[in-house]
Amino acid sequence: MKLLVLPGDGIGPEITEATLAVLDRASAIYGLNLEWDIRDIGFKALKSDGSTFPEPIQQAAREAPGIILGPVSHLDYPSKEEGGINPSGWLRVQLDLFANIRPAKSRMGVGLTGKPVDLVIFRECTEGFYGDRNMFMGRGEFMPTEDVAIAVRKVTAKQCRRIAEVAFDWAQRRRRKVTAVHKANVLHMSDGLFLKEVRAVAKRYPEVALDEKIVDAMAALLVRMPDQFDCIVTGNMFGDILSDEASEISGSLGLAGSTMTGDNACCAQAQHGSAPDIAGQDKANPTSLILSAAMLLEWLGTRHAQPAFSDAAGAIESAIDKALQSPGTRTGDVGGTLGTRAYTRLLIDTLQPVTR
Ligand code: NAD
Repeated sequence: MKLLVLPGDGIGPEITEATLAVLDRASAIYGLNLEWDIRDIGFKALKSDGSTFPEPIQQAAREAPGIILGPVSHLDYPSKEEGGINPSGWLRVQLDLFANIRPAKSRMGVGLTGKPVDLVIFRECTEGFYGDRNMFMGRGEFMPTEDVAIAVRKVTAKQCRRIAEVAFDWAQRRRRKVTAVHKANVLHMSDGLFLKEVRAVAKRYPEVALDEKIVDAMAALLVRMPDQFDCIVTGNMFGDILSDEASEISGSLGLAGSTMTGDNACCAQAQHGSAPDIAGQDKANPTSLILSAAMLLEWLGTRHAQPAFSDAAGAIESAIDKALQSPGTRTGDVGGTLGTRAYTRLLIDTLQPVTR
């Protein structure tokens, strides 16, 4: 199976190289026959092809059985007219990757607040306040005069229903509790619609409990009692913010896996950004992208009924859990001494067959 690999900007190429090295080892152990179609995006592609996400790569993304996407420096991209396309936003909308699934799990013992964290955030990621993707044409933000800026927040019943269905499906296989996070006390219509759809989906899953929390309270509760939450479903911006908070509380943003998933496609993507401040210094922690790739393997295993893919995903998680137990086998950002390459080598050497 040939996966499309888009290393991205900043630390993207080095953490992608680390991820592919770990996947190569897993592929050899489990006979996955993984191959890579590696293409430049971001600033490299802008220089060579005039676009941060050239059309031939867009076509490759449409046809790929799965995608691994490194972080991109889209804050610094030029305008769309000058070739600046956010690959992440493009993939979400064009491939209908509406579900951003972001687990946060304490892997170094307890989380930062002294309590264990093991939860998953389900974030709808094609609409909401994100102006680069919430309109068919044009942007969802505009300036009628130079001192007034307006952002449009789009919420549809269909996408609320779909993200709720994904969360309740997962909850059935976890601790059977979904927390819907909203701001319906202020955003009566848009978050009112979100809650209406989530409650309707909940009725179809009587064995899963539904809990509702206002987003500001949720930000505090995540710090105070993260162990009370299991599956959290929410919209685009709340999910973006809360998932960074949850992963940081679980240990570090650098440890958080993430996929963007639709009915027919899946893309592994690190939760963090392109970290230009440490790019090329062998300091980046590749765990987030490696765990994201493991989530992609799990998705491929289920989709193609190939348990070896799920077994490989489990083995990668176990190798990471083992490495993170001791500071001597961690990267610098989580109190360790290893650089990106030495940590990757250790994971490869630790990777052992595990049958689930
Ligand atoms: P960032 O996540 O890149 O960095 C924040 C801090 O965390 C930095 O100090 C960085 O060194 C550190 N850090 C991040 N990932 C790390 C890792 N794997 N190992 C060790 N340390 C790590 O956030 P930022 O600085 O706000 O954004 C930089 C660029 O990334 C911007 O252009 C932004 O738009 C973009 N961004 C991209 C994505 C994505 O591609 N999915 C997500 C968020 C931000």
